[in-house]
Amino acid sequence: MSDDVSRDFIRKIIYDDLESGKHDEIVTRFPPEPNGYLHIGHVMSICLNFGVAAENDGRTFLRYDDTNPGKEDEVFVRAIESDVHWLGFDWADRLTHASDYFERLYESGEKLVELGLAYVDSLSADEIREHRGTLTECGRNSPFRDRSVGENMDLFRRMRAGEFVDGVHVLRAKIDMASPNMNLRDPALYRIRHISHQHTGDAWCIYPMYDFAHTLSDAFEGITHSLCTLEFEDHRPLYDWFLDNLKPPHRPRQIEFSRLNLAYAITSKRKLGVLIDNKVVSGWDDPRMPTIAGMRRRGYPAAALRNFVKRGGVTKKDKLIEMGVLENSVREILGEVAERRMAVLRPLKVVLTNYPEGRVEMMQAMNHPNRPELGKREVPFSREIWIERDDFMEDAPRKFFRLKPGGEVRLRSAYIIRCDEVVKNDAGEIVELRCSYDADTRSGTGTSDRKIKGTIHWVSGDQALPATVRLYDRLFTVPDPNTVDDIMDVLNPDSLATVEAKLEPSLASLEPGEAVQFERLGYFCQDAHDNSKDSLVFNRIVTLRDSWARIEKQAMRGQT
Ligand code: ATP
Ligand code: MG
Repeated sequence: MSDDVSRDFIRKIIYDDLESGKHDEIVTRFPPEPNGYLHIGHVMSICLNFGVAAENDGRTFLRYDDTNPGKEDEVFVRAIESDVHWLGFDWADRLTHASDYFERLYESGEKLVELGLAYVDSLSADEIREHRGTLTECGRNSPFRDRSVGENMDLFRRMRAGEFVDGVHVLRAKIDMASPNMNLRDPALYRIRHISHQHTGDAWCIYPMYDFAHTLSDAFEGITHSLCTLEFEDHRPLYDWFLDNLKPPHRPRQIEFSRLNLAYAITSKRKLGVLIDNKVVSGWDDPRMPTIAGMRRRGYPAAALRNFVKRGGVTKKDKLIEMGVLENSVREILGEVAERRMAVLRPLKVVLTNYPEGRVEMMQAMNHPNRPELGKREVPFSREIWIERDDFMEDAPRKFFRLKPGGEVRLRSAYIIRCDEVVKNDAGEIVELRCSYDADTRSGTGTSDRKIKGTIHWVSGDQALPATVRLYDRLFTVPDPNTVDDIMDVLNPDSLATVEAKLEPSLASLEPGEAVQFERLGYFCQDAHDNSKDSLVFNRIVTLRDSWARIEKQAMRGQT
């Protein structure tokens, strides 16, 4: 194991197993159910499973847990593969399905019958539930529990052959109806379902239950460490029961860790599906979704997601991680790689009355303040420019260092201008500023040593590119929407705002998904789907600073 990887409790176990010679090679799996798109919680599981194997020259399977026909879809399968690849992981030739093992699983079912450890139950689903008991009350044996091996085998085979309709029989493990662990009260192994499977078609009309299929798939693949979330802790005795009794050649070890939960976000495919069904978002890859596809379209770099889960660590304690931690991971990467550009989100027109009409000067602007090797670009400057509405204030306080009547400001990479006149419409709204520029103050020429406190960004009027810019915010108003009854009650109505912006012309040639910093505003990228030649659409990836942290701090000081 390389030294730069800090050892969480799972990595310690793995390291010990290699040290002691218990295993020569580490084999893990990431086992999604293809019933939705992967989300930020899955990112943790992917990084953990692929990560611990890669750190030890081991192998990882991408295995579809496809034991639930009807709820699963080929669309999700394709999306999962593309998401895992995009995150930076590769399963090589180890792409499998629980359904690849249906025949072997069936044989294992017969073996349990033969051993007298499984029986066909003919109670109805309701009766089975009623016999199961409760947490405080023992279960009761089914009247069919003592069927002979021969009778069980005959019925199980006929279940497979399609002789019975759904629900008439189930195959159950024969363990202990009085066990304090409900999972051991004769859990179902197979149920009859006359339904096509997206991978095996109509070959089967009985389907294995999750615990049975999962344990044995792990064993068949030679998984050494089967890493799963804490809710499976109570299933571990059943996992081990299957291994103890079926004695497969490989014996995997199940280890549980706590789920990653992200504040103001949902980490359940089913609940994310509710947002789509109710048209709260435009789809699984809506940039507000905490899905991998959504975060990628939003412009989050894969490395930022990997760093984020590394920061969260691997523990046994439940945690709700602040959105700010994820956003800071994004800023950290983009601050380094994203080139600077100028864009005005809420444009206010400025006319430079002493600048010649028709003249266009090309200004030199740095692409990155700390990385001169990224060079400069040319930005056109002309008599009419756009500035940010917020950068002008008519009745400005003394400490307002942007533009105000009679005041001066530097235009980034250009000139110092002074506001001479404010033009308003009949409604009294400001529609234009008339300013004058100081021709001696062109940036980079060194001809003037005038110092001005404020610098603002701008875009030249004639050459500006119009664009729709989407500004995203949290989808929910409460920190843990996973715990509310109806997520539709806690939606943030302002999770999406759109503005009609003006961009500097160099932004026409950006690749979709390529991130830039709009100076003073945040990180942005061109949307991957909704762009055409004559209508540009940009997404705000993240603001420059964590404005929520500020708001929360203010609230704590009682200042809001
Ligand atoms: P969902 O409720 O969203 O469907 P799931 O756990 O049922 O989640 P699976 O497709 O079965 O989703 O999960 C694949 C793997 O990802 C499992 O090993 C699961 O434990 C893990 N996983 C799912 N959600 C999280 C999470 N929030 N944090 C860490 N791991 C997770
Ligand atoms: Mg699931």
